[in-house]
Amino acid sequence: MYMRIGAIVFVAAAGTAMAQDAEVAVRTEPVAQGIHVLYGSGGNIGVSAGADGVFLIDDQYAVMTTKITEALAKLSPEPPRFVLNTHWHGDHTGGNENLADKGSLVVAHDNVRVRMGTEQFSKFFERTTPPSATAALPVVTFNDSVSFFLNGDEIRGIHVPDAHTDGDVFIHFSKANVIHTGDLVFAGMYPFIDLDSGGTVAGVIAAVDRMLALADDGTRVIPGHGEVTDKAGLAAYREMLAVSSGRVRELVKAGKTVEEVLAANPNADFDAKLAWAFITPERYARILYRDAAASAAVR
Ligand SMILES: [Zn+2]
Repeated sequence: MYMRIGAIVFVAAAGTAMAQDAEVAVRTEPVAQGIHVLYGSGGNIGVSAGADGVFLIDDQYAVMTTKITEALAKLSPEPPRFVLNTHWHGDHTGGNENLADKGSLVVAHDNVRVRMGTEQFSKFFERTTPPSATAALPVVTFNDSVSFFLNGDEIRGIHVPDAHTDGDVFIHFSKANVIHTGDLVFAGMYPFIDLDSGGTVAGVIAAVDRMLALADDGTRVIPGHGEVTDKAGLAAYREMLAVSSGRVRELVKAGKTVEEVLAANPNADFDAKLAWAFITPERYARILYRDAAASAAVR
């Protein structure tokens, strides 16, 4: 879905330079009893639909709301009661205002409201994101974890510090044995780690470790981007992060400049499998370099 170039526009207000594609169709797939994933343009949406109504995880871009609403209508006649944002980026929160208009209560970590409510600057993309409309902001925030007792499950949003951003949660459906990772996991592709929003590589690895501790061989894992995966997929992703960042850290320790690291091509084996339009080999190496240089400076 990222390879379709024709209709893709890059949106300054998105919080990332992730492609927004209003032409893309929404695809619904069952994940577990009463739980579905919606693929479209932006972060993957998790849906719990049942006797207590509809609970949504993330809502992609505003231009996708009509298609998302049509897809949800096939799962339940009710509009979403709750929307839980996994983090502040516009490809996960862009539908907030439209859904809040229809009565959804938007919930997120404290830092999501702070970042959405103020101008943000990304040094990595040299891009400024203006504050979101007040109507788009979460109306309930929390600092550590939040639980929803809905549709026969305990749906828990668990904050992990300084990971993809400084306001991430992943969501654990305790009974259904499903985890929605938000952008802590990109399946089958390099992750974006937003260092300008308080993200760190070590934080992402620690977050994946927390998910691994909750998972078993039957767990279904909805990533922020990419196809649904499982515990083995999480473990492989964690290994890739540790190995690729470790290589760059060694080069930083040896005093290499970023240009020298790029020229050394330390992750060529992963590049071949995991680089994509948004996170190219160079961008991934630059994220790892900056992260390693920052943590070396702290030491
Ligand atoms: Zn993101």
